[in-house]
Amino acid sequence: MQFESKLADIPTTIFTVVSRRARELNALDIGQGYPDFPIDSLLSEHVTAAMREGHNQYAPMTGVLELRRAIAAKIESTYKKSIDADTEITVTCGGTESLHSAILALVRSGDEVVLFDPAYDSYEPVVNLAGGRCVRVPLSPPQFRPDWERFAMALTPRTRLVIINNPHNPVGTVWARADLDELARLIRDQPVAVLSDEVYEHVVFDGQQHESVLSHPELSQRSLAVFSFGKTLHATGWRVGYCVAPAGLTRELRKVHQFCTFSISAPMQHGIARYLEAKPEAWRNLGTFYQQKRDYLCDALEGSGFLLRRAQGTYFQLLDFSAISDAADVDFVERMITDARIAAIPISPFYSAKETARPRLSVMRVCFAKREQTLQVAAERLREFAARIADEPPSTSVAAT
Ligand code: GLN
Repeated sequence: MQFESKLADIPTTIFTVVSRRARELNALDIGQGYPDFPIDSLLSEHVTAAMREGHNQYAPMTGVLELRRAIAAKIESTYKKSIDADTEITVTCGGTESLHSAILALVRSGDEVVLFDPAYDSYEPVVNLAGGRCVRVPLSPPQFRPDWERFAMALTPRTRLVIINNPHNPVGTVWARADLDELARLIRDQPVAVLSDEVYEHVVFDGQQHESVLSHPELSQRSLAVFSFGKTLHATGWRVGYCVAPAGLTRELRKVHQFCTFSISAPMQHGIARYLEAKPEAWRNLGTFYQQKRDYLCDALEGSGFLLRRAQGTYFQLLDFSAISDAADVDFVERMITDARIAAIPISPFYSAKETARPRLSVMRVCFAKREQTLQVAAERLREFAARIADEPPSTSVAAT
């Protein structure tokens, strides 16, 4: 029997492809974003205790109450915003499920969703699943700032949702308050919701401050903000995230969430709630912590041939290899994995879900959420590879794969 694919243009995610390739070739994986250092032992103790105490059955659909209360307290102290733990917070399977449930709950067939290009790879396929269409507004390199004139032109009466990502994965930029003001102004008179992916909220550098939609009086009325304990507590494999939105939007989100994952791992939720109670400041130094790692890697790559502007936020750094190779990013990364045993993420997959519609780029993303020792090995391999490539005649610099 033959089925017609609903998502014929959607390939396997670039993170899965690259990590699999890295494992096959025993390469150092600084592609997919995850820390290679342990979580706080106090956190694992609380989760283990929760299991021992019998929190091993279904958690409430909306999330364990103690955790939702801890989240409300965290938002109050971070963004000075009072959030109702019962009606405005939903615990989801990572930030990804929040994004998924929000898009499916809000986007109807024929609706348009505006997003900024490059965009995290999960947005567009879910919009397509909902029957919607993405309208992509470019963030132009090398600064990747939003162009509000072009954004205004992208809005139509069919626009239902705008997806923003701040701090931005993969480009590592951080929006200013003025950007949120501009967004609010441009959608003011239209029935458009905002889905704000803020999973790197605490990973912001150089004294900048994260501007959440939650602290924006106008945007907070129409936004669903997505957060992640995976990023904040160094536990991406636990898949615990949450969505914060006004009661009406939360009600809609929960209609999808309840039939998607229904509820999230009970001991993890209890453990995190207790941990946040014991250490309410646990995430406070994340910016400084990751800035040191960013600087360690960037310093080690100075003069390597890779061009870089230091990330303003997230734990990702873009590396531009146009000075050493004219290869396309996907080919460059494949050769780097094979020849230099180091894996990174090409950027072109963030421009379109459809492989044939992707631009040709000379940029890749590396993850610096790693121990110093890992970053040192990574920098050595990157430098050696860059030197080898730069010595080759241009046309042969990377064989097509
Ligand atoms: N968010 C992670 C990253 O950007 C990837 C998560 C995934 O593999 N789906 O690297």
